[in-house]
Amino acid sequence: MSNVIALDESYNEPTPRSLGDESAHYGTNWANRLIGLALSKSSSQYWRDAKFEWFVDTFDDLGEPVEVCVCGNSGLRYVYGVANHVTGATLGPIGSFCIERFDSDEMIEQMRDMSALARLEADAKAGTLGRASFTVRGIDVLHDRGVLDEADWRVMRRAYRLGRARLRNDPALSRRVMWIVELTIRPALLTGVLAGGAA
Ligand SMILES: [Zn+2]
Repeated sequence: MSNVIALDESYNEPTPRSLGDESAHYGTNWANRLIGLALSKSSSQYWRDAKFEWFVDTFDDLGEPVEVCVCGNSGLRYVYGVANHVTGATLGPIGSFCIERFDSDEMIEQMRDMSALARLEADAKAGTLGRASFTVRGIDVLHDRGVLDEADWRVMRRAYRLGRARLRNDPALSRRVMWIVELTIRPALLTGVLAGGAA
């Protein structure tokens, strides 16, 4: 229960907390439609258990707001796919707002990690991978996914903290960053497998 309250405070939006017992309520609005659909593809009978079976699996930036969420919500540009680690079921496309309907801090983190990675991937493919492509989250995700080892991750974090102007005043660090980006990060991003559906 305290978990639900914490989520409400951080996102300041209603959560489908009453779901789980009355299947008659599914389909009464788009949030319930989404959760009802996910529940029908889950192993657990009640949403309070079933929600832990799901994780964010894919991400796509369509460039334009043209997609429709499985719940019926339209005008999506950034779309996610989710998967159930128990049943193997997948569900999508789902909008970022609707990912929050799953009421899972972990899924929101996965969604943000995936967006950061997808942005890096897109820039690598467009040939515009540069300082503006990187965020602290992006650097951390590259470390989490095994692209950056501990030493390279520390260098990238340090360079990011310094900022562009001060990094220029440290040629040795600048060079290290350039090598890490060119020899490690860019090739990994160009394989296109990091952000799932963005490939
Ligand atoms: Zn939706």
